[in-house]
Amino acid sequence: MISESDLLDRVPSGLYIGGEWRPAEDGATLDVFDPATGRRVKTIASASVADGKAALDAACDAFPSWSRTPARDRSEILRRAFDLLQERKDEFALLMTVEMGKPLAEAKGEIAYGGEFIRWFSEEAPRIQGRYGANPEGTGRMIVSQHPVGPCFLITPWNFPLAMATRKIAPALAAGCTVVIKPAELTPLTTLYFAQLLEDAGLPKGVLNVITTKTSAAVSEPIIRDPRLRKLSFTGSTPVGQKLLEQAAGAVLRTSMELGGNAPFLVFEDADLDKAVDGAIAAKFRNIGQACTAGNRFLVHRSVADEFARRVSERVRSFGIGRGTEEGVTIGPLINDKAVEKVSSLVDDAVERGARLETGGKIIDGPGSFYEPTVVVDVQPGSDILREEIFGPVLAIQPFDDEDEAVRLANDTEYGLVSYVFTQSLTRGQRMIERLETGMMGLNTGLVSNAAAPFGGWKFSGLGREGGAEGILEYVQTKYTLTPNP
Ligand code: NAD
Repeated sequence: MISESDLLDRVPSGLYIGGEWRPAEDGATLDVFDPATGRRVKTIASASVADGKAALDAACDAFPSWSRTPARDRSEILRRAFDLLQERKDEFALLMTVEMGKPLAEAKGEIAYGGEFIRWFSEEAPRIQGRYGANPEGTGRMIVSQHPVGPCFLITPWNFPLAMATRKIAPALAAGCTVVIKPAELTPLTTLYFAQLLEDAGLPKGVLNVITTKTSAAVSEPIIRDPRLRKLSFTGSTPVGQKLLEQAAGAVLRTSMELGGNAPFLVFEDADLDKAVDGAIAAKFRNIGQACTAGNRFLVHRSVADEFARRVSERVRSFGIGRGTEEGVTIGPLINDKAVEKVSSLVDDAVERGARLETGGKIIDGPGSFYEPTVVVDVQPGSDILREEIFGPVLAIQPFDDEDEAVRLANDTEYGLVSYVFTQSLTRGQRMIERLETGMMGLNTGLVSNAAAPFGGWKFSGLGREGGAEGILEYVQTKYTLTPNP
């Protein structure tokens, strides 16, 4: 097993532009920290506006050749990348734990999940299809064909450093698009190391370019406004997504937006409570609660609310807290102190408005950015914690009295990413599919993500889908051709 310092030495520290690793043109750098210790772990290049333009130039130059590369060849490069990721999975897991804080076992889980997008889209590349047939009048033939959309700009968040990148890179490359990717400044190392892996898998120069920067807004805007760019795919918060949509409007840019969530987690009186508790722990505490799919509001039928709270609290009290590299740790740090303060203020507000703490509720003294895993019950309407994404290890329970009230509360948010429903009634489950306003739903399960499924939200949670048969459609454009009968 490679040591942490050897691994960090191995991760490139430059920008990856046109197949070359290079420093920022103005020499600027960016420090990366371990959130479990507060320690700086590496210093890397911080791209300028000129570097961003150079990266787009490279993606534009590489597009004609890559878009004409046979689908089978594109597929095989992706498949090699998938295989290399399996070989290097311990390294990627350690790297993610160091820069983002998640426990090592979860980092391995992310590699399994993130890797599946590479395998899935390596299989989709040769299956991009068109159609041919007579028009209804019988006067001609209609041909419908799909074409890569062009150079793409991909912006990813810090919470899943590998999977958020592969979920975009793999379909883009499979479709024949070239890419500039800008990872989050808090966790850029995984993307740099992954670019190295793609190079090792045989990806031609310029097809993928990576810009890391501490001036994301300044570097991104000129790229988004450049008329040569044909697609923007963003994962991050809704306010930033809205800003980028405005910038994209000028060039009528194709966009995909994977934005924030505020997932309701419904436990009905007829639920299997053991399964609901397992589902709640998975939906809430995976990634230390820092997932867009995290259960945010636990709506529990009043008749089982106390028992549900008792059982989840018992589980939560048994969590091991610490640096994700340590044995037995299930809860790592939050990404930084700002995140800790936000979580803490949401809990304090809920308690001031009448909620009760079952367990947790306090900031853990440093070093590192830790908050106690927390269960808070009887959360009162109007509390901030019901309206905002918590993005931390806090399970907030609000009781309800009947199904209509549960649905009303669940849908009472501008977000619509995912919902979770625990019931043993098939017809109630079916009613929830019809009534809950979310792009995804876990019916008696607390985890929904899968590379073969269309991931994405309704309402303020976004536009477009990642994964599944739908995922590649985000990176192709349709052409219809009419030709007279032969
Ligand atoms: P964020 O919006 O602050 O940042 C996301 C990315 O955008 C980062 O790379 C950041 O550097 C960049 N960015 C920020 N401001 C920018 C600007 N003005 N111009 C260009 N780029 C800019 O979000 P975050 O804190 O990194 O991630 C957490 C958020 O992401 C949460 O809201 C979460 O729900 C959401 N998220 C959504 C999904 C999904 O699939 N729907 C998945 C993961 C995370």
